Amino acid sequence: MRWNPLGVRAARPEDRRDEWAFHDAEQFAVVTAAAPITDQPRAGQVARAAARALAEAVGGVAADLVTGHILAPGAERPRFVLADQWLGDVLPPFRANGRCTAAEPERDPEGVNGCSCVRLRTRGLRRFGLPELQIDGVACPHDLAALNVLRSTARRLLTDHWSWLATGPTDRSRTIDHDVHLTGTDFGEFWGSSRRAHPVPSPFRVRLGPLAPRLLTVGPPEEFEGTVNDWLWGDQIPLGLYDVVSSPADPPLPTAA
Ligand SMILES: [Zn+2]
Repeated sequence: MRWNPLGVRAARPEDRRDEWAFHDAEQFAVVTAAAPITDQPRAGQVARAAARALAEAVGGVAADLVTGHILAPGAERPRFVLADQWLGDVLPPFRANGRCTAAEPERDPEGVNGCSCVRLRTRGLRRFGLPELQIDGVACPHDLAALNVLRSTARRLLTDHWSWLATGPTDRSRTIDHDVHLTGTDFGEFWGSSRRAHPVPSPFRVRLGPLAPRLLTVGPPEEFEGTVNDWLWGDQIPLGLYDVVSSPADPPLPTAA
């Protein structure tokens, strides 16, 4: 095998048992999909639905080799929701597994830039032909805000990417602007939830930078004077991005009889 099953992990504690079963498995079936680029995200969804059905039929465990995560049990949702484990987005261990004792910014202003333990990187955008995103040098207290900025940016890039594909482009590549305009709606769309969209769109901006051929950095807009942590702690980012770890997607609309 050209991949190591031990590299596949449970993103949620409740999937730990499935992770062990996956590591101990004697046989693996790998499902891949080859489809025109315009068939996204459908082709990936179909492949994942097939893998889930296969796992269920043989009492196995389904995993995603792009994100490197065990898939949570359940059926594939017909509608594409990025939050359905497509991005490999997980919070790092709290306070670097307890090794970090930097101050809390609420108690001590020093804590805003008290450490730089957190680096977050997406694993999943490559599947759609986009570079992955990374945010680095983040202090532990801002880990969730950083993760949600990353999620919103990823959703925005996908929306733009699919709008471009829908025009039937003749070019084989396109340019991504380094200045990305986001709103709370992008964050709502990450969760597949229109409810979360604020009445006020609360716009904010991020700046992308090249780090490697298929990896972009996400940071504060160009004119922001301060560190990434000043930015994450300040009032530039919509409030909803500070407290949402997970969120249920909207239930599917009733279909006409
Ligand atoms: Zn820290």
